[in-house]
Amino acid sequence: MIIVLKPDATEENLQTVLEKLKSLGLSGHVSKGEFRTIIGAIGDESILHNQPLEAFPGVEKVMPILQPFKLASREFKPEDTVIRVDKQEIGGQKLQVMAGPCAVEERELLLEIAYQVKESGANFLRGGAFKPRTSPYNFQGLEEEGLKYLAEAREKTGLLIVTELMDPREMGLVKEYADIIQIGARNMQNFRLLKEVGSQEKPVVLKRGMSATVKELLMSAEYILSEGNHKVILCERGIRTFENFTRNTLDLSAVPVIKSLSHLPVIVDPSHGVGKWEFVSPMAKAAIAAGADGLLIEVHPYPEKAFSDGPQSLLPSRFKDLMTDLARVAQAINRTI
Ligand code: PEP
Ligand code: MN
Repeated sequence: MIIVLKPDATEENLQTVLEKLKSLGLSGHVSKGEFRTIIGAIGDESILHNQPLEAFPGVEKVMPILQPFKLASREFKPEDTVIRVDKQEIGGQKLQVMAGPCAVEERELLLEIAYQVKESGANFLRGGAFKPRTSPYNFQGLEEEGLKYLAEAREKTGLLIVTELMDPREMGLVKEYADIIQIGARNMQNFRLLKEVGSQEKPVVLKRGMSATVKELLMSAEYILSEGNHKVILCERGIRTFENFTRNTLDLSAVPVIKSLSHLPVIVDPSHGVGKWEFVSPMAKAAIAAGADGLLIEVHPYPEKAFSDGPQSLLPSRFKDLMTDLARVAQAINRTI
């Protein structure tokens, strides 16, 4: 349920409504906009049907939240969510680029890539230490050793770390090293894992499942939000269609669609979206033009030797050129990078 307060409602009016909700066992999330304060009441809404909340001083109207994803919806929170990670913000005016290898492979190589993406202007280093591979015979990641290399790269470059968590049993370990926890496409509907990342404070990048609808993605975000973690970044990374020239079909229409439905930041991963390096830069630029708040891009200096996703990885020099181009796209839409 959404409770809209009158423009002249006082702080006391607000507190009275919040106390009433609390006494009914509902949680009230306050969203203070420029002109109005809105309270989102989450819990068993049927309790509210017999409550004359509209008669409370300062209350203008009470409306149901129509979307099944309540906390993620724009109805619940009209203004954009901006997520702070250390000194960086995601979802604000400044675009954020998370770049690095698909997997952490070796210490020196990771440091080399970290320095390169930093120099090109990225603020986040991405790299998997736990890798979700289609084949059990393929490289599965360096696990804790890889996390340690990521932490060292952060120490040396100041880049913040984005890395994947695949299993609730590794939550403690990954949380210790990551600045942002990635939930991969294959785990978008691993509800146990979603609850686990929802009940801790690190921000989460939630990648869209390869055959998930936008609504299903938002319902998965709802799992995280409803556990109390409000720092969720949604990531479009391509979906499966009949088209097989590219690895997936990057659904850029999802960006404005999600933006209209939800207040959460949206980033795009063109690397997994297209699967071939030569199409990554055009789609990265298109993603920013479409309104994405940032990008997740795979970069590798020796793609032919990469343990995973070499064909879709940009050489550092190409990544650098992309960052230069992105600055111009950003300027055209009144954003910075
Ligand atoms: C990745 O980011 O390297 C990855 C495995 O992505 P996805 O979960 O989108 O396939
Ligand atoms: Mn990858």
